[in-house]
Amino acid sequence: MMFKALAISLTVVPLTQAYMGSNPAARGFQQHAATRNLDALHEPHFRRNVGGVFIATGSPPTSEQTAAQSLDPVYECTPYNYEPILKLEPSYPQEWMTATIQPNDTEAKEAFARINATVAQLLPNDHIHPSYGHLGNWTPAAEAYNWTDPDCWWTWSGCTKPNPALGIPDDLISVPEPNTWGLAFDDGPNCSHNAFYDYLQANELKATMFYIGSNVFNWPFQAMRGLDDGHHICCHTWSHQYMTSFTNEEVFAELWYSRKILQDILNITVSCWRPPYGDVDNRVRLIAKEMNLTTFMWDHDTEDWKVNISGVTPQDIYNNYQNVIDGAGNGTYDDHGTITLTHELTNWTMSTFIHEAPNIMQAFKHVVPLASAFNWTHPYIGSDITYPTFEEFVSKGQSSANSTVNTTKTASESSAPTLKSDKSQTGSAGRTVAIGGLWMIASCLAALVV
Ligand SMILES: [Zn+2]
Repeated sequence: MMFKALAISLTVVPLTQAYMGSNPAARGFQQHAATRNLDALHEPHFRRNVGGVFIATGSPPTSEQTAAQSLDPVYECTPYNYEPILKLEPSYPQEWMTATIQPNDTEAKEAFARINATVAQLLPNDHIHPSYGHLGNWTPAAEAYNWTDPDCWWTWSGCTKPNPALGIPDDLISVPEPNTWGLAFDDGPNCSHNAFYDYLQANELKATMFYIGSNVFNWPFQAMRGLDDGHHICCHTWSHQYMTSFTNEEVFAELWYSRKILQDILNITVSCWRPPYGDVDNRVRLIAKEMNLTTFMWDHDTEDWKVNISGVTPQDIYNNYQNVIDGAGNGTYDDHGTITLTHELTNWTMSTFIHEAPNIMQAFKHVVPLASAFNWTHPYIGSDITYPTFEEFVSKGQSSANSTVNTTKTASESSAPTLKSDKSQTGSAGRTVAIGGLWMIASCLAALVV
């Protein structure tokens, strides 16, 4: 059964305490909590139609095409069985539950053994932020944590730059091009995202989509639309919990299976991820790095995900958007661009972006997906799918009013991946993608790369 775990995900317990102690470390935590409203992070991360028992009232979607056609959320979110998912189910963690390496997954075990040895060698003193941290209650961890933040723990200090001596890349928090909005949405694929994706398509907006593995597992047709619309796909863990609270194996498995489901369903191996709630430290960063996953954070948070939580009002969110938009007019983005955190989480978050998008497009010179912002012309490991450079995207990608994405079924071969590849498996789904006037002819090669 695809949806057996959904009821469990609704039982996430709201955590109530922001630490209010008096030792220096705790004061630091409290201060940071005040600036980033960490108390609100303790609330459950609400997801539309995920976690609820859904009663189908009609025939569900039976293909990517039928899933993409409807604007009726009842129909869009009617659960469906997709045979490949049913076949994959025994080899995956349960949806929305903490991922662990599956018993027969020898490839994952071998990869993890190598990575775990690297972590032990480079970060012998690093540690898990323990206790109830899966759900964001950091009180015990805050009491125990070293005030100097040796782990570059974002949730503690907002740190995004590990000690260079460790060789762990800085998190990417902004884009290099001036007056540019790096467009990205977290938490998809949302089952009822068609109106939102239609809007993006009609306005030739391509985004980086940070997909949650469990959502892809439940809504594979919706994930297919994301790729076929020309969006840039990254992963956002398997169960969307706080990563620094996990063991090395759990961190690995959360990333492994959220990437693997995209390999199995979309035939791509993504090269980037974003930590849920921004909860990342050096240990988690190193495991991600060893899996060839670039860590994306943000420089502004619209906080759209917590509207009506902890007293946050819709107007607060509009103001947050406006603050970033105002930055485009006051010189803030004269030498770089923003990555502003926005979500494909609820109808409200998606509708709010649609509401704000005209202002964003007017204020910022360019609105681009992160792949193009960083000139990642091959964003998927071992794949021939190509993406436009920044210059190509802004000169061609947004020039046509009829942005379309076409796929073909032409089989093709590709060379083996050149990154750290322990093993690979080849796929054969050819793909031709058009973004505006720019055609990208590509073939997919699914490569299991560690
Ligand atoms: Zn998220």
